[in-house]
Amino acid sequence: MPPAGFAGSDLHYYNHGGFGTVRLKQPMILGHEVSAIVEALGEGVEGFSVGELVAVSPSRPCRTCKYCQQGLHNQCLNMRFYGSAMPFPHIQGAFRQSLVADAIQCVSAGELTPGEAAMAEPLAVTLHATRRAGEMLGKRVLVTGCGPIGVLSILAARRAGAAEIVATDLSDFTLAMAKTAGADRTINTKDEPEALAAYSSDKGTFDVLYECSSAAAALIGGIAALRPRGVIVQLGLGGGHEPADDGNHRQGTGLARVLPLP
Ligand SMILES: [Zn+2]
Repeated sequence: MPPAGFAGSDLHYYNHGGFGTVRLKQPMILGHEVSAIVEALGEGVEGFSVGELVAVSPSRPCRTCKYCQQGLHNQCLNMRFYGSAMPFPHIQGAFRQSLVADAIQCVSAGELTPGEAAMAEPLAVTLHATRRAGEMLGKRVLVTGCGPIGVLSILAARRAGAAEIVATDLSDFTLAMAKTAGADRTINTKDEPEALAAYSSDKGTFDVLYECSSAAAALIGGIAALRPRGVIVQLGLGGGHEPADDGNHRQGTGLARVLPLP
């Protein structure tokens, strides 16, 4: 297996033994943002060749429950998502030397690098979020939290036609990534706690808020800067975190990757 991505949920499992009500009850392999080199094909599998790079979807819906029957595979009642402690026994993850995956989980990655191909899953989350947010053309967008999900949200919003994108975080490093991804303005809310207030006049400025931090303060500040009838897409889900010693809620989780958006 080539290099893979670490998700907020992987870090929560590793550092906290779970998130929200989801708790590890037995050893579990982490990992669900992966690509792979095809080593062998199962009987009857066509359309792939040995040695080919593929992006691997970690979602394995049952395809028989009522939601699967409606085409809402992301809402599957019996989802076997790689590296998930939601069901018991837990679903083992994809950080391993070799993986047996169904052909339907694999998509040829063409000329992408393995790292790029491993980003397909978090990118899909932000593309879905952007679709849920509705028409994006000409919209003013606020992204709170610039971890991978926030940065990919910036790419997705820009690609969908957003006119202006402002991004906030507590880290200059992630804000630099946001800028590279196309944010028009970045704000370090630790250094400039009042900077968002300028967007709150006349009941708020932004049309869409991608909340990607899970920090309560970010959501509260974002709502104040959102215009009436604006849209909030909540991607960050921390779940049961206490504020850190400095009083700040930590940013940078992105559990909408494993908790499907409605
Ligand atoms: Zn199902």
